[in-house]
Amino acid sequence: MRRKLLVSFLIVLSICISIIGVFSMRLSRQIYLKGLEDNLISNGKLMAGMLNDRYDYNKDNYDDLATEYSKILNSRMTIIASDGKVIGESENSSENMENHSERLEVKEAMEGKVGISYRHSTTENMDMLYVAVPVGSAKPYKAVIRLSVPLTYIKSIQSHLLLNVLLAVALGLMISFITAYLFVRRLTKPINEMTYISTSIAQGRYDRRISMNYKDELGVLARSFNDMAEKLERTISDLSDKKNKLEAILKSMLSGVIAFDAKSKVMLANPEAYSIFGFKKDILGKHALEIFRNTKLEDVILSHKDEDKEIDIDYPEKRVIRVKTAAIKDEEGSQNLGLVMVIHDITEIKNLEDMRSEFVANVSHELKTPLTSIKGFAETLRNGAINDDSARDKFLDIINIEADRLSRLINDILLLSDIENKPKEILSEKVDVNKVIDQVKDIMSGAALLKNIKLEFHKCEPPAYVMGEHDLVKQLLINLTDNAVKYTPEAGRVDVSVIRKDDNVSIEVRDNGIGISKEHIPRLFERFYRVDKSRSRALGGTGLGLAIVKHIVVSMNGEINVESEPGKGSRFTVKVLEAK
Ligand code: ADP
Repeated sequence: MRRKLLVSFLIVLSICISIIGVFSMRLSRQIYLKGLEDNLISNGKLMAGMLNDRYDYNKDNYDDLATEYSKILNSRMTIIASDGKVIGESENSSENMENHSERLEVKEAMEGKVGISYRHSTTENMDMLYVAVPVGSAKPYKAVIRLSVPLTYIKSIQSHLLLNVLLAVALGLMISFITAYLFVRRLTKPINEMTYISTSIAQGRYDRRISMNYKDELGVLARSFNDMAEKLERTISDLSDKKNKLEAILKSMLSGVIAFDAKSKVMLANPEAYSIFGFKKDILGKHALEIFRNTKLEDVILSHKDEDKEIDIDYPEKRVIRVKTAAIKDEEGSQNLGLVMVIHDITEIKNLEDMRSEFVANVSHELKTPLTSIKGFAETLRNGAINDDSARDKFLDIINIEADRLSRLINDILLLSDIENKPKEILSEKVDVNKVIDQVKDIMSGAALLKNIKLEFHKCEPPAYVMGEHDLVKQLLINLTDNAVKYTPEAGRVDVSVIRKDDNVSIEVRDNGIGISKEHIPRLFERFYRVDKSRSRALGGTGLGLAIVKHIVVSMNGEINVESEPGKGSRFTVKVLEAK
């Protein structure tokens, strides 16, 4: 801008100075020529007066006179007779000169006027000013006195003048340039500053202000600009505060939130929403139909109504979500501005609910069986069997066995719920596995002996430790050994070993019993899952033993593995990190 202003300023200035230069050159030329003409006229008139008194046409010539006065007057003098003949000439011999009656200035002088002519002289071969004055007081005039000067002088004056004018123009331009530069700088500096500051503000530096030391209109402009910047800064900071708060709230929410505009395009979505629906790319600005592949969900959004629904989704995986929508209305509540959707992933709650009701059904069933049996035999006894000694003893034994089963079942259920209610990881104690082995040996040896099973324990030296809870590790080992003894026929073999490998401790329970066919293995650890219900029941099983084992292993951050072959035996291996 500064350059533009300066250039336009200089162009106007140069044009003005040039016009002034040209006019002053023309004027000076006119003044000079007028002076020259006036001088020649007055000299001519003087000479005409003088010649009038002594004019004699018959005199040979006036060359000498012309030469003499030409020197005094510093101009060429020609005396022309009334017939046009040159009778006196200062620069040549008049005899050699042609008739001058047709010369413009001579013609005018013969008419009694002062003849003035500018032309090229063939005699002198240069541009000349001619002034001719009649000799005599009235027509017919006796002769004409013509004075002339070459115009070479004026040319040199003119070139001198031109040089001066050019110099003046250059000087004028220089001074004007400096003045213009200072003026333009004074004018553009605040404008440039304003431009720079407003660019900075546009780039997000809202704290920038213009210095206020301008006293003119620019000062007023700067003040209003600063006021505007101040308000802008406050508004932006308010907005970004609100935005940050909103973002923090949305980020910390455990529910997904998506807001749609009136055209059902996404205005906002929090990270949880991205995670629930498995969005990999930015969904802002996308239409609801573009991002969801679920008609129920799309219907809820496109209806723009307040709704609360449970919807099954298949992508990114099968899940159940609860969707609550609320329409966004304008201040009057008449116009729909969009919709906010809050999404809860209730898959786990649903699964838990299912599991719980299944568990309750199972527990009721499991409890019902021994209770029905106890009640049945008790009634049979009351109805008379009590008097039959052998029947009474048999029935009382059965009642006792069923009561024991009931007690075991309740104990297992309580134990399971106990483990479930504990924190996810139970790594409170450093448990000596060899010590647990010794205790399990004491407990299980009797049962093994009854079935003539060779139960052997292989401890680890030096003793291996794991992090967990002593009683739970013991329970884990009892359950696995008990199963091995239970599902191994008479005279079989069961080996319980503790093996240290790398950083891990493996507790392995191996038997050569009935084994388990492949299809059952993935479900073995489910509650109440049994391969052969009647066999398990006959052996006093509750169907919860392995579920308890699995819970304990998970609580110790370990893993359990089963290898089994029907008819050959099974091997249950629990692998846990060794405690150092
Ligand atoms: P249960 O009280 O019936 O033994 P568990 O949860 O301990 O229940 O075991 C689940 C089922 O796994 C058992 O019913 C049984 O069919 C099978 N099972 C467990 N351990 C063994 C084993 N060592 N050999 C063969 N089958 C086994």
